Amino acid sequence: MTQDLAAFAAEHGVKYFMISFTDLFGGQRAKMVPAQAIADMQADGAGFAGFATWLDLTPAHPDMLAVPDPASAVQLPWQPDVAWVAANPVMEGKDVGQAPRNVLRRVIDAAAQDGLHVKTGVEAEYFLLLRDGSAISDPFDTAEKPCYDQQAVMRRYDVVREICDYMLDLGWGPYQTDHEDANGQFEMNWDYADALATADRHSFFKFMVKSVAEKHGLRATFMPKPIEGLTGNGCHVHVSVWDGPGDSATTNIFADDGMDLGLSHKGRHFLGGIMKHATAMAAITNPTVNSYKRINAPRTQSGATWAPNTVTWTSNNRTHMVRVPGPGRFELRLADGAANPYLLQAALIAAGLDGIRTRADPGERHEIDMYAEGHKVADAPRLPLNLLDALREYEADSDLSSMLGAEFSSAFLKLKRDEWQAFVSHFSTWEKENALDI
Ligand SMILES: [Mg+2]
Repeated sequence: MTQDLAAFAAEHGVKYFMISFTDLFGGQRAKMVPAQAIADMQADGAGFAGFATWLDLTPAHPDMLAVPDPASAVQLPWQPDVAWVAANPVMEGKDVGQAPRNVLRRVIDAAAQDGLHVKTGVEAEYFLLLRDGSAISDPFDTAEKPCYDQQAVMRRYDVVREICDYMLDLGWGPYQTDHEDANGQFEMNWDYADALATADRHSFFKFMVKSVAEKHGLRATFMPKPIEGLTGNGCHVHVSVWDGPGDSATTNIFADDGMDLGLSHKGRHFLGGIMKHATAMAAITNPTVNSYKRINAPRTQSGATWAPNTVTWTSNNRTHMVRVPGPGRFELRLADGAANPYLLQAALIAAGLDGIRTRADPGERHEIDMYAEGHKVADAPRLPLNLLDALREYEADSDLSSMLGAEFSSAFLKLKRDEWQAFVSHFSTWEKENALDI
C-alpha cells in the first residue's frame, strides 16, 4: 500500500517535506512543501522549471512535476521536522526520459522482466576538509599510510559518530566506519539493498554527510581526486542478483558452489557484460574531468591508488577493476565519488543485463598485482584516459546507450561535451609554464 505522506507527517511531527530529484550532474534539487500542502503534491508533484537544472531542457518547456515516491520518505535525523522524499520527474503526464531516477527505474523494470533483481551496496568515500575547501581539516592527520589510523578517526569522532548514529536511526544497518587511505579521508559501510533503495540512500548519504560536516564547521567532499598525490574518493559497488525484490528474495542467482569462485553462469555473464561495456560505462561511473586523475593515476603517497587502470577481473585482489571477494557477488571498483547515484546503478544493471542476454564471457581472470605487473596483461583494454575519451566510448556503445535510453544518452552526451569544452577552453598555469618559451 502506498504510504500517505500527510499521515506520515502527522505521525512523525514533520512540518515540511523536501521533494527532491537528482539532475544529470548529480545535483539534488528540492522544493520545500509544508505538510498541509503535501496531499496535493503527492498526487500531482511539485512544479519545477526544468531548464534551471542540468536536464537539457529549454526555458520554453512546460512545467516539470516532481512526483514524490513515498516509499523513499525519511525524516532528516539532524532536523526531524523536515522529511526528504525522492521524486520522479514527469512532464505532460510522461516520465522525463533523461531524469536519472527514471533511467534507473526503467532499467530495473527491464531486469525484472527477465526475472533479475539486482541488489547493491556502495562504499562512498569522502574527505573532511576545512570549510573553505583549501586543506584537510585535521592538521595532525599526516601519516604516510593513514588507512585505519585509529588516532585520526577518533579526532573526527564527533562527525563520524553523528553520521553513523543517524544511519542506525534510519535502519540502514551501518556496520563499520574507518579512516581511509588518504589523509582526511573516511568511509562508512551500510547494508546492501535493492538498487533503487541503495541509490536513494546513496543520494541521501551525500546530503547527510555534507550537512553534518557543515554543522561541525567543516566541508565534506566526494570529489574523485581532491588532493594531488593522495588516494582519491572511490565508490566501489558490491553486486548480487536475486530471484525477487526486497524481502521476497530467497535465492542469490549469482551463487553456485560448484563454479569457479562460487559465481554462477548468470553471474559470469553479468560480469561479462560489465567487462564488455566498462570503457563506455566510465562516462557514467567516472563522469568528471577530475575523475581521470583517480583512475590511470601515478602511485600515491600511501603506495597505491586503489583504483583500476585496465578492464580486468580477479578473485580477492584489490588491484583489478572487478574483484570477486566471495561466492555469489562481486565488487566493481571503477566508480568514483562523482558518480550520480542513480546513473551508477542504471549503467551497472544495463551492462550486466546485456551480458546475461548475450551470454557474455568475462574472459580470463588474472591473479597478479596489476600495479606491479599490469604490463603482462597485454590484451586488457585500458580505461579511458580522460572524460572526452570516455564520452566517445559511450557514444560508440549503442547497446549500452540504447538500454539507458535515447533521451538520456543524447542529453547526457550534450551536457558532458559542453563541460569538456569548458575545461579545455580554460587557460591553466601548466600551459604557460610549458609553452611560454617555445
Ligand atoms: Mg574504501
